Amino acid sequence: MSEQEAYGHKDMDSRMLLQDKRHSGGGSEDPAAWLRETDIVSHDFPYAASLIADSFREWRGQGVPSFTESWSWCVLNFEGDWIESDSEFRQGRWRSEWEAAAGSCLQTGSIHIAETVDEGQAYTLLALPIFTRGHGEIFAVLGCRMPAEQYDMGGRHTAEAMSMHFQTCFYHTFEHVFVSDLAGVHLHAEREGSRRSLLFQIVQRMHDNIDVDAVLTEVIDSIAAMYPGARLDLFMSQDHRSTHPQVKPLPRQWASNDVCARAFKDGKVILHTGREDNATVEVGLPLGGKQGVYGVFHMLLDKRSFHELDLSFLSMVADTAGTAFENAKLYERSNQLIRELRMSNELTQRLNQSLRLGDIFQFAFEELLAMFEADYCCILHKNEERGGLEVIACNHLPLLGELVETGQGLGSKVYGSGEPLLMSDYKYAVGQTSALMDATGSQSLIATPLCVGGEVRGAIMLAHKEAHFFSYDSYRLLQAMAGHIGLAVGNARLHAEVRRLANRDTLTGLFARHYLDEEIKQRQSKDFCGTLIVVDIDQFKMVNDTYGHQKGDKILRQVSEIVKSSIRQGDVAARWGGEELAVYLPQLGVQQAVFVGERIRKRVMGETEPCVTVSCGIAEWSWTDERVSVESLFYRADMALYEAKNNGRNQVVIDNKMLENTSKNPWA
Ligand code: GH3
Ligand code: MG
Ligand code: MG
Repeated sequence: MSEQEAYGHKDMDSRMLLQDKRHSGGGSEDPAAWLRETDIVSHDFPYAASLIADSFREWRGQGVPSFTESWSWCVLNFEGDWIESDSEFRQGRWRSEWEAAAGSCLQTGSIHIAETVDEGQAYTLLALPIFTRGHGEIFAVLGCRMPAEQYDMGGRHTAEAMSMHFQTCFYHTFEHVFVSDLAGVHLHAEREGSRRSLLFQIVQRMHDNIDVDAVLTEVIDSIAAMYPGARLDLFMSQDHRSTHPQVKPLPRQWASNDVCARAFKDGKVILHTGREDNATVEVGLPLGGKQGVYGVFHMLLDKRSFHELDLSFLSMVADTAGTAFENAKLYERSNQLIRELRMSNELTQRLNQSLRLGDIFQFAFEELLAMFEADYCCILHKNEERGGLEVIACNHLPLLGELVETGQGLGSKVYGSGEPLLMSDYKYAVGQTSALMDATGSQSLIATPLCVGGEVRGAIMLAHKEAHFFSYDSYRLLQAMAGHIGLAVGNARLHAEVRRLANRDTLTGLFARHYLDEEIKQRQSKDFCGTLIVVDIDQFKMVNDTYGHQKGDKILRQVSEIVKSSIRQGDVAARWGGEELAVYLPQLGVQQAVFVGERIRKRVMGETEPCVTVSCGIAEWSWTDERVSVESLFYRADMALYEAKNNGRNQVVIDNKMLENTSKNPWA
């Protein structure tokens, strides 16, 4: 039985009274003795009314000798004021009569006797003083009405005996309340003691934990163990994910009077007792530290197992949890920073291992997937030729190589706005569509523009199937990583440009000789055959002498343009030296090469201004040759050219070796 039920609020006065007694009588060694010695004194009398009323009812409920069955009783206080009576007494009618009788009794300190008639029946009224057991002070007056004829037939003595019995009943009730109060106090102290030691253990365990998740688990499990029947949830703001099933993200919207919303916003414990079911109480406990509120505990408890004192205990637990959480969070944060530094180091190191754009995107893609534990990674890069954003890396293969048109999807939005994006739950992203999210069934997304040299060149997107997967920290980290990737991409582009320039001849825009050499070498290592044409301008010395070197350069450029536009895409045209050009035709036999050489020769003759002619020497290699090398190929082509010059110039000549193999030289 709870204390509340034992006394009720109406007994507040008797509790106050008892409080004093406990202090005065608590020193004795024999518990029965101090209880017997405990008494009420005159200054307690004003608080004794409800105790007197209780004792009166109990006394009346105990049954009476049949002789007294027709008697009626009432009880009044130490000032003669009405307290309680049998139902026969209609209070209004009898009250003043009894109060007068009690007044006389109190004045004389002895029984007061009066006569009265009710509905033709003569009655004797007795006002009997009830004395304290210690000092014999009157603390109540018992009123007894008996038929007048019974008074002399032993009625008075019986009434006196019954009044003594009432006194005993009063002290019985007094002692009972006293003892149960004491037991209640002991129980309470015991409960408080065990809670304090529990709190101490919780505090210790929580501060032993430097892991955020462990702190949350600890606090939930501790509270759950203390309130076994309670429903407990912990709502955390988005940055704090946990594996504990009772840890949930803060709802997107609260009802305005929601206990959790108030606890979270005000950072205070909120108690709600007026719930509809009237059987439970609802508690909102903020989980906060010095820097803010991180979440809120929500508890639904059985009203009977909840006491107001629980609130201070729970808020102590929540405060401790808040501080422990904040400490763990700080620790986690510093670890996170170290991890970020390490990862960014690793990423830059890996990115720097290669200067090829393709490699860089592949590295970045692999590193990001692992670093963010994302399900999907998609890198978009501007493709000038295709006129859009190209998916250049993606682990959802159907999207790889796809072209994202401007203004379509989230990647394009990030690219267009140049702003990063954090999306916790795709299904609530009204009006936003994304091919990546739809195709992969993802719910969370972080995306950032990819800036190269201050210009947005693409976008990086990381997706996860779970909603609320990425934290704000991840979002921030991705931006930092995108900075590194952008730098690497910029370096690779610069490097490619330098390489392109190094491989080109500046006057003609054709490849340089070393590049051609390298290309042929590589081709010879994997192809079956190939042909080289060397093109030499006839009498160029004379052209220079006639028109000057500048004009000579211009003609050289004209011839180069003709060569470039006379060959296939995979063919390589280079300036071999001076006014000699060379074209390598991979996988092409000499017979087809002759057509190319002839085309060049004829076009030069017809299109150059002032008009010049060229001579061409052609040589072929085949995997069946005894010796395959760049040098021998050039040598043979050069020999053929030499022959063309000797034969009168403006002609195409195939090298001797080929002539030996060919029955008829078509150009002879
Ligand atoms: P052939 O028909 O035997 O090839 O006679 P050629 O005069 O063309 O041959 P030669 O090797 O005697 O002379 C090559 C000339 O090409 C010498 C040089 O003045 C000129 N030449 C070489 N490179 C350039 C260049 O970059 N610009 C100009 N304008 N002339 C060049
Ligand atoms: Mg020449
Ligand atoms: Mg020459």
